Order: sequence, then structure tokens, then C-alpha cells
Amino acid sequence: MVPTTALPGGEWYIRPDFGDGILVATHHTDEEVNPDHYDNTPDEKTILELTDQLGEVIPELRDAGIRGQYCGVYSSTPDHDFILDQIGPDGCYFACGFSGHGFKQAPAVGKIMSDLVTTGSTPLVDATFFSYDRFSESAAGHGKAADNV
Ligand SMILES: Cc1cc2nc3c(=O)[nH]c(=O)nc-3n(C[C@H](O)[C@H](O)[C@H](O)COP(=O)(O)OP(=O)(O)OC[C@H]3O[C@@H](n4cnc5c(N)ncnc54)[C@H](O)[C@@H]3O)c2cc1C
Repeated sequence: MVPTTALPGGEWYIRPDFGDGILVATHHTDEEVNPDHYDNTPDEKTILELTDQLGEVIPELRDAGIRGQYCGVYSSTPDHDFILDQIGPDGCYFACGFSGHGFKQAPAVGKIMSDLVTTGSTPLVDATFFSYDRFSESAAGHGKAADNV
């Protein structure tokens, strides 16, 4: 069993998957793509880099076969903070821009959104932090995003 592990350098992580296999993942956050039209196949260069780096840390995996591969897309905002807001017509709410950390925040996001929809405010956080308008005040929103979010 291979536990969830970050490899040296912080760019790669691995975790159990595929039954008896492991899932190996990395992320590049500097390239913009159209989510409706992008190539969801990892490029050959990335696969070769991964195989090399992984083999240095876990030599037994150097010759492991590849069962599947997929590229996902991060829906990132400039500051990597969410947008949780009422935008446009009355009754239209946005919860998006989760910037690679939306899954673990889902319970809080659900609570905030249900509060906003039913009462227009939330006691959980200062909802203005997540406003869409922050980008009209500054295109960078809250400023530079932290690394490895
Ligand atoms: C590679 C990667 C690694 C990540 N790792 C983490 C992590 O470790 N921890 C963490 O907290 N978060 C992580 N995230 C982020 C997390 O996965 C997202 O923040 C979260 O999934 C966003 O949830 P969502 O419901 O808003 O959107 P999504 O999960 O993207 O769901 C949107 C759904 O809407 C559907 N859809 C889109 N357009 C239409 C349409 N026109 N009609 C009908 N349906 C449509 C899509 O098919 C999809 O099912 C990661 C994301 C990626 C890409």
C-alpha cells in the first residue's frame, strides 16, 4: 500500500487508486485553457519527466505500466479565492473559482450559499471577501495567490 505522498520538490503527489495501482498527479497553474476545448491527454514530455522523477524516489515504479491518464482544469481566480455571490438577475448566484481547493471547502461553501440565497447574508464569514466586485476594484482581487493551493 502506498500512502498519499508528496514527492520532493512539491510538484507531484501520489495516492492509491485503480485497485492495486497508484494515481500520480501534478499541476501546472500558469497556462490558460478554454475548458470547453482543451486536450485532456497529458503530454509525452510530462509523462517522461514524471517517470524519471518517480523512479528516483521509488525505483520499483520506474517500469510500472500506465493504466489511464487525464488532465483536469483548475477554475482559478487571479487571487485563488472563491467567488460566492449574487451576480446579475435577482435569484442568480455564483459559487465558482475554487482554484484547486473547492472540494475540501464544500461544506462551508454549501452553508454560505444557502445563507445567501435564503437570507441575503451569512453569519459564517464576511461574505464581501468572496464578492465578484473585488475584481472591478482591482483585477488582482486580494492580490497574489499563495503557491501550491
Ligand atoms: C487536478 C485537480 C486537483 C484538485 N485537487 C483538489 C484537492 O486536492 N482538494 C480540493 O479541495 N480541491 C481540489 N480540486 C478542486 C476541486 O476539484 C474543485 O474545486 C471542485 O470540484 C469544484 O466543484 P464544483 O461542483 O464547483 O465544480 P465541478 O466539480 O467542476 O462540477 C461542475 C459540473 O458541472 C458540469 N457541467 C459543466 N458545464 C455544464 C453544462 N453546460 N451543462 C450541464 N452540466 C455542466 C460538469 O460536467 C461538472 O460535472 C482539484 C481540481 C483539479 C482539476
